[in-house]
Amino acid sequence: MSAVQQVTVLGATGSIGLSTLDVIARHPERYQVFALTGFSRLAELQVLCVQHRPRYAVVPDDRSALDLQGRLRAAGLATEVLVGEEGLCAVSADAAVDCVMAAIVGAAGLRPTLAAVQAGKKVLLANKEALVMSGALFMQAVKQSGAVLLPIDSEHNAIFQCLPGDYARGLQAVGVRRVLLTASGGPFRETPLAELERVTPEQACAHPNWSMGRKISVDSASMMNKGLEMIEACWLFDARPEQIEVVIHRQSVIHSLVDYVDGSVLAQLGNPDMRTPIAHALAWPERIDSGVPPLDLFSVGRLDFERPDEQRFPCLRLAREAAQAGGSAPAMLNAANEVAVEAFLQRRICFTDIARMIESVLNARPVRAVEALDAVFEADAQARELAAQWLAGR
Ligand code: NAD
Ligand code: MG
Repeated sequence: MSAVQQVTVLGATGSIGLSTLDVIARHPERYQVFALTGFSRLAELQVLCVQHRPRYAVVPDDRSALDLQGRLRAAGLATEVLVGEEGLCAVSADAAVDCVMAAIVGAAGLRPTLAAVQAGKKVLLANKEALVMSGALFMQAVKQSGAVLLPIDSEHNAIFQCLPGDYARGLQAVGVRRVLLTASGGPFRETPLAELERVTPEQACAHPNWSMGRKISVDSASMMNKGLEMIEACWLFDARPEQIEVVIHRQSVIHSLVDYVDGSVLAQLGNPDMRTPIAHALAWPERIDSGVPPLDLFSVGRLDFERPDEQRFPCLRLAREAAQAGGSAPAMLNAANEVAVEAFLQRRICFTDIARMIESVLNARPVRAVEALDAVFEADAQARELAAQWLAGR
């Protein structure tokens, strides 16, 4: 392999960021950390900087920049600390960067991720919200710049691995009948419906198979995560919502499947550990060790499948409707969901209010076309305002 690759990790202090650094540290001859970014937990960012010695670190404001810069200097590091969204975009687009891990959570990741795309980088996409919000514009930017977009979300990474290399010709052209998106069903798959009203943030964040950030954990519990992933899959693989079927598979061993017209169904399996898709995308088209133990099918024993229940998981229906409506709808769905999840985590609303709030926001405004990024951010802002009104008006 050629020169050492320079990697920027956006959202380095998060669950995906830390797993990425774990894989990178196993291959110092292949990867060097160019920049690390964090929004909170800046003491952890400092520790990561000492471990990985990046050229840049990015923090949210001047005060924390001054503080971190002082500490890094005292530790003898030459790392330069940059600030805010401008800093995030700079370390994503820098000419010296080969690869950007987009692992900021939520809409906050859109501009920096797009900056990496527009600069033609190899972009490892974990930040699904960015693609959900701005799908058409995002994919257009990928085409224009020649960026290499590789999915980190385990389901999309699995689908990517099960598709032929020339799938960009179109799913029908390469013989795909449909894509089967697996879902664990989260911690409330079997909770009596009447009890869902009373579940706590702690219960929602205790995922049976995956350890993840709090926002995606709540999304998994409501299955909005699968809804966002359905929209993500539509953009990544140029699929229509009807070509994607959600299958509940509680063991989280099959990460997704592709069903071909000849009756062949290809699946990707593995232990539920995000270091597998991360290592796959980092090294693609080569393969490297990820640190994940080999899959032991004998201890897995069995694989179960069931159909999702949209009464239990209304967020799935809301996401499908937003995907079908297109335009501003997915950006509004995403923004309303971000506000709702935050309010649930702060115990201001109950779990079942999440879907109620999103539905009310989506019904409050007609769907508009989004031809430029401004319109995406406008839809995002409008949904947040409507969601705040919903919260205030209860
Ligand atoms: P996390 O909450 O653990 O980490 C989020 C990171 O983003 C942190 O580094 C945080 O400092 C940073 N951040 C938060 N708000 C920010 C802001 N306003 N500006 C700049 N940075 C900000 O989340 P995670 O679980 O690592 O998830 C990251 C992304 O990856 C999400 O989009 C999630 O949907 C996706 N994803 C995660 C997993 C997983 O297993 N954790 C799996 C698939 C996809
Ligand atoms: Mg996923």
